[in-house]
Amino acid sequence: MDNSLYRCCTLCPRQCGANRVNGETGFCGETADLRIAAMLPHFGEEPCLVGKHGSGTVFFTGCSCGCFFCQNYQLSQQHVGKIFSLEEFLTALRELIAKGVHNINFVTPDHFWPHIAAACRQLRDEGYDIPFLWNCSGYSNAELVPEQAKLIDVFMPDFKYALPELAETCMGDREYPRIAFAAIERMVDGTGFLRPWDASGEILATHGTIVRHLVLPGQLENSIRTLDILYEHFGPGLPLSIMSQFQPMPECERLGLFTSKIKPDIYEKVLAHAQELGFYRLFAQVGGGDDSFAPDFTSDNPFGNNNVKR
Ligand code: SF4
Ligand code: SF4
Repeated sequence: MDNSLYRCCTLCPRQCGANRVNGETGFCGETADLRIAAMLPHFGEEPCLVGKHGSGTVFFTGCSCGCFFCQNYQLSQQHVGKIFSLEEFLTALRELIAKGVHNINFVTPDHFWPHIAAACRQLRDEGYDIPFLWNCSGYSNAELVPEQAKLIDVFMPDFKYALPELAETCMGDREYPRIAFAAIERMVDGTGFLRPWDASGEILATHGTIVRHLVLPGQLENSIRTLDILYEHFGPGLPLSIMSQFQPMPECERLGLFTSKIKPDIYEKVLAHAQELGFYRLFAQVGGGDDSFAPDFTSDNPFGNNNVKR
């Protein structure tokens, strides 16, 4: 495996320059040791990525985005997880595939790209043709995307913040909107739109890009601006997933920010705006989220009994 990218690390927009091979950590909090909190068939993604047997999801430890309200804060901020060698990672991936999952879904993957690239290449060499999914925050190094698009079949970036001041408050970088847009543009350039498209989930998607947006409490303007930017640049054919699953985490209470769930009328307004713009490949969520979106990664079964096909 080529671990040179872990030296003087610039794998994400934080550009820390940490020598992770020597055990240093940057903003993401991870060295060059691959750390994973959970690998399992997961049913919490969009229906066209879940199918009958689930998405083979790999939850990496650490995140370079660092949103204070993170529902996966046990991974992103408390660094729950176990270290895997590349061989152990490959063995676990083969075991996951043997369970019948429809894809391999790398969650918050940017800071472990060298391991992921090596694993994807090895699995392809062994003849596995299962789609590889890149399930990321949008806070990605756009220069790496063309290389990633050679191995990754489906990009599912978030576009979390269209307003610089909101990005500053939530994750400390007011450049997020510009950075995420540049990365998403390259993801779409590299793979096109998500396809085949079937909102019912009967036919599984295997290629392309779908953009996700989580509506935040009291942040209607951010969501409207997000949709406007995406519409202006990609048109109404861009596949979109608009999520309502926000749940206040302990840090929200401490900061006194985002202390409630999404109000249904706000979510409805966001959906209505997407429909007015004419987006026609759209996933929406019913209700305002439930406990299945607040996993416990200290448990062997992080999603409990909620990890079932919806
Ligand atoms: S991946 Fe981690 S160490 Fe590398 S630049 Fe990003 S935050 Fe810094
Ligand atoms: S990008 Fe996602 S995983 Fe990372 S801190 Fe923000 S909400 Fe958490």
